[in-house]
Amino acid sequence: MATKVLVLGGGSGGLVAANKVKKLLGREVEVTLVDKNAYHEFMPAYPWVAFGMREPEQVRRPLGNLAKRGIEYLQATVEALDPANNKVKTSAGELSYDYLVVSLGAEALPVPAKDSYAPWSLEGALRLREALKNFKGGRVVVGVSGPYYPCPPAPYEVAGQVEFALKVKGVREKSTVDVFHLNPLPLAGMGPVISGKVMEILRSKGIAFHGEFEPVAFEGGKVKAKDGRELPYDLLILTPPFAPNRVVRESPLAGPQGFPEVHKGTFRSPKFPNVFVIGDTVNPSLMLPPAGVVAHFQGEYVAGVIASDLKGAYIGEPFNPVAMCIMDFGDNALLPQCSFERLLAGTGMPSCGVMAVGKWVRVTKMLFEGFWFATLIE
Ligand SMILES: Cc1cc2nc3c(=O)[nH]c(=O)nc-3n(C[C@H](O)[C@H](O)[C@H](O)COP(=O)(O)OP(=O)(O)OC[C@H]3O[C@@H](n4cnc5c(N)ncnc54)[C@H](O)[C@@H]3O)c2cc1C
Repeated sequence: MATKVLVLGGGSGGLVAANKVKKLLGREVEVTLVDKNAYHEFMPAYPWVAFGMREPEQVRRPLGNLAKRGIEYLQATVEALDPANNKVKTSAGELSYDYLVVSLGAEALPVPAKDSYAPWSLEGALRLREALKNFKGGRVVVGVSGPYYPCPPAPYEVAGQVEFALKVKGVREKSTVDVFHLNPLPLAGMGPVISGKVMEILRSKGIAFHGEFEPVAFEGGKVKAKDGRELPYDLLILTPPFAPNRVVRESPLAGPQGFPEVHKGTFRSPKFPNVFVIGDTVNPSLMLPPAGVVAHFQGEYVAGVIASDLKGAYIGEPFNPVAMCIMDFGDNALLPQCSFERLLAGTGMPSCGVMAVGKWVRVTKMLFEGFWFATLIE
């Protein structure tokens, strides 16, 4: 009888894991992917939707397409995990499995500023597009409401893209763009080379950066920081606060901070060895960034570990603790690359460098979007 592999979440990590495990094991496995959403969405393109470069249909594909790859897709909400009994409770009934891969992402909590916008979801991107349509120029502020949000570089990309959009609209001269963050410098965790390059691009676009800015109140059209600084705004773009997915937080997999406990090198649960947790649900607790590229490599890796369990030999990919992120600033782009090897081992900072910079780098992000859909869900 085929081994049942259940994948929870059809985002970056889940989509890769489901494809890879099916590719490695063929008929030896029955792969089912569960997601509440009918579509896989390519989240790096949300800002492009906000700035009018893409329509929603262009940045998502029906998860039902997975049938062509021999993967069963079930549209259902995951309600509870019961790893002691190899069961998952969903809105479509109870499911059982031999192996479970959990990639349910991070969960957005209510935003502290009701008048803010966030292209951190497709709906959020469309709301921001509507606001920009009516924007006649003024003070734009982009910032974070907490330290944990998908894609650490995205606020800087959004600031760059909004600045470019204002130029195109012809209202740049009457506008200011400011970015605030809890960190002292942009992407401080990636080291001085990356921070320096991002600062250089922001400066060249006339965007002011405010570091160590911890927002404590959003009142009267101003963001107020703990140390008394204030940033007035006419348009506020703010990351919502995020937490590890509720289903995982409330399950026997969760550790004291709400993040699931997994082995750092294999992403396997120490208590339930047939369960793996990958992606944004777990990465901040492993000192890995909540980024699609990391979830992607984890998905490939855990598929290999499952294949190895079943075949009795290691036949997968080694986990690649590397992240490359194409940062699109609208009229400029940067491709930083980081290895998190030392961070995972607890021996030091990530080692990062700039692979490319320039307008043309934007094109590589668009090419990657096409490659992503073509290889995983078309
Ligand atoms: C604006 C923006 C730009 C980004 N740009 C980049 C980039 O350039 N490069 C990069 O590497 N990363 C980028 N990211 C981050 C990247 O998209 C995420 O880190 C990645 O998608 C995380 O993958 P995941 O599988 O952990 O979770 P997700 O991709 O979030 O997938 C989780 C899935 O689980 C489903 N789900 C959640 N709860 C339930 C439930 N209870 N029942 C059923 N289904 C459920 C969701 O519908 C979703 O499909 C960006 C993110 C954003 C928001």
